[in-house]
Amino acid sequence: MSELPIRDELRGFEPYGAPQLDVPVCLNVNENPFAPSEQLVADAARAVAHAVRDLNRYPDREATTLRERLATYLHGEAGVALDTGQVWAANGSNEVMLQILQAFGGPGRTALSFAPTYSMYPEYARDTSTAWVTAPRDEHTFAIDHDDALKAVAEHQPTVVFIASPNNPTGTAVPLGLVTALHEATDGIVVVDEAYAEFRRDGVPSALTLLATHPRLIVTRTMSKAFAFAGARVGYAAASTQIVDVLRIVRLPYHLSAVTQAVAVVALEHATELQARVAQLRDERDALAVWLREQGLEVADSDANFVLFGRFADRRAVWQGLLDHGVLIRETGPDGWLRVSVGTPEETTAFKVALIDVLKELS
Ligand code: PMP
Repeated sequence: MSELPIRDELRGFEPYGAPQLDVPVCLNVNENPFAPSEQLVADAARAVAHAVRDLNRYPDREATTLRERLATYLHGEAGVALDTGQVWAANGSNEVMLQILQAFGGPGRTALSFAPTYSMYPEYARDTSTAWVTAPRDEHTFAIDHDDALKAVAEHQPTVVFIASPNNPTGTAVPLGLVTALHEATDGIVVVDEAYAEFRRDGVPSALTLLATHPRLIVTRTMSKAFAFAGARVGYAAASTQIVDVLRIVRLPYHLSAVTQAVAVVALEHATELQARVAQLRDERDALAVWLREQGLEVADSDANFVLFGRFADRRAVWQGLLDHGVLIRETGPDGWLRVSVGTPEETTAFKVALIDVLKELS
């Protein structure tokens, strides 16, 4: 590799990704543990068969039907009416965010976020030759301090600010007042990454409600979590039509396959049934947080489908101990903390039993 004419920024890097291990209980990548229903599978199979008949042709480059249906879904979910032209879709919100930096980042420009946060952001920045800076979150609550955030914007003059809300790996949602203040403080783009938005607790509003009054705001979402559709790779964004038109300049032609578009439309038709599962996962998340606290552990308040808990003098030992018991979670976040995704009730029970054993073994 060292002899290859690789870009300097890429030297020494490994491909990003959590270990994909064959373990009975996988609670490491914040997936939705519930597989699609048989009805969804049957409807998707029909839609795929229909799409395959036309695979000699390129797909709808604008993914119009899918974007229309996403707009309808967002109207129902967040009460915000959007035109199809305000919605953009791509292969996972990862691709949407890469496109955002391709369009608004680049050499000589800076992207800012608040750490600890989603570990892919610096990778999108690296891959688009955008400088990457972070300001710290509060060590205990993982909240973003208003004044510190504005200071960081003044100091670094970013063209893109990323705010994950709820944040990964901490689960923390940001108050909309902070989004508004950041939007006011910069001429750049403010991205609120709402990959986990559907799991937010009651009374936590979506940043979608700010779109009409905040012209440089982009809200990104995904079908990977609430829609239990991680394998389909569908992420999307809502923003002004002007911003979407800029993203359309950098997208690869026909980036979203006909099969992807077809199955995503089917999943959206099943939104109601999927939302019931989300409600169940939210309850499981809250119960898991209570249980972890009862074990004497520290738990970050979570509006997502995972919980960050700790603190362990040797988190690697706890992670490995759980793995030895057949439960894979994620060693991520600040030192001492571990992250567990909310699974099915059976998976959560397996995690609890294993954790009790591991903590006993290590004490
Ligand atoms: N944003 C956050 C905060 C995430 O945690 C993830 C996935 N783990 C993503 C975006 C990307 O999700 P996807 O590409 O599957 O839409």
